[in-house]
Amino acid sequence: PKPCEVTPAIIMKTYACQRRTPLKHHNSFLTEPLEILAENAEFSENEGRSIAFRRSAAVLKALPHVVRAMDELKDLPCLGEHSLRVIKEILEDGTSSEVESTRQSEQFQAMKALTGVFGVGVRTADRWFREGLRSPLDLIHTGQKLNHAQQAGVQHYNDLNTPVTKKEAMVISDIVERAVKAVLPGAIIILTGGFRRGKEVGHDVDFLITHPEEGAEERLMPKIVNWLEEQGLLLYQKTTRNSYLESKDGPARPPSNMDRFERCFSIFKLEQSKMDSDTQVEASSYNSSTTDGPEERHSGSRWRAVRVDLVVSPYSQFAFATLGWTGSKLFERELRRWAGQEKGMSLSSHALYDSKQQRYLQANSEEEIFAHLGLEYIPPSERNA
Ligand code: ATP
Ligand code: MN
Ligand code: MN
Repeated sequence: PKPCEVTPAIIMKTYACQRRTPLKHHNSFLTEPLEILAENAEFSENEGRSIAFRRSAAVLKALPHVVRAMDELKDLPCLGEHSLRVIKEILEDGTSSEVESTRQSEQFQAMKALTGVFGVGVRTADRWFREGLRSPLDLIHTGQKLNHAQQAGVQHYNDLNTPVTKKEAMVISDIVERAVKAVLPGAIIILTGGFRRGKEVGHDVDFLITHPEEGAEERLMPKIVNWLEEQGLLLYQKTTRNSYLESKDGPARPPSNMDRFERCFSIFKLEQSKMDSDTQVEASSYNSSTTDGPEERHSGSRWRAVRVDLVVSPYSQFAFATLGWTGSKLFERELRRWAGQEKGMSLSSHALYDSKQQRYLQANSEEEIFAHLGLEYIPPSERNA
């Protein structure tokens, strides 16, 4: 730039839901290390610390340029002392010693491997770690007692830790569409989660289902699951029924960020022959996994396991459900924090409650929810905080 040119000041808002955060940004060399520390804090159940690192990373993701010096950060929100120390080290030395020793640590690696098993949370992984277990194979060798989800998780460990491609998500989308249309004509199905935000790969595929006629969606999930099971498309499923109406604590105040929709956490059996021929060779190598039973694999029927989440919402809550299931997780958390702290409102995937007016605010689209919250509309592709 010419010497007389003044770089316009970047106005960085405090809440991630006030900012546009694209998928591809300029500072992965800083955000990835910060997110390692966030993940490590989650493994030690230090939520506050984890959120602090995630908020720091999110600010850097929203910057329109590469950070080259510490003084570029002086007017930015959310950057705590610890994050700044890590950033400084990376800018000066290329790496952060704290991040590198975390990455190398036995505990971090074991927790990563053990929580990488579907159905295993931080609590269980930590208990196993303290008992000396380090990997999914240790679970088999020591004959750990596993629930059904965890058994499926161990069995399909390699497949489920192989990123789901957009192409695979589209094939699954077609299958889900066929299943839903077969059991409830007129139903609406949308792809949510990371793929709606424009991600090229994901850890699973998320769908939200509704029907324009309120009530037509009730008890829909068991029918969808039956259809899929009859076609032999499911390796695992756990359906939870809608508990929204039974809840005593009020619709907008669920106990955590967990919602109460009828939902299904599943593992699909995805035929590889449905994929384009150019992905066949690559795809076949997925199945040379150590934990997937070879007796289940026949030549000519190559398949792989893919995690799929299905959620059913009543039409009147569809906008809230769409917003709540599109993510990112940090973006969602920031939306709820904004609603509570700045607006005296309570937001969930079901509803928005205004404490001042003491009433629920209706919405037919995500745009209307942002408007109720006094926020500029942020499209899904810019919710990648
Ligand atoms: P990935 O590519 O890793 O799947 P993602 O953003 O799709 O990324 P998910 O874990 O699939 O991540 O979550 C998608 C969205 O669904 C997130 O916004 C999250 O807040 C929401 N979500 C996930 N699990 C629940 C749950 N149990 N209750 C309510 N919302 C949930
Ligand atoms: Mn997802
Ligand atoms: Mn999901």
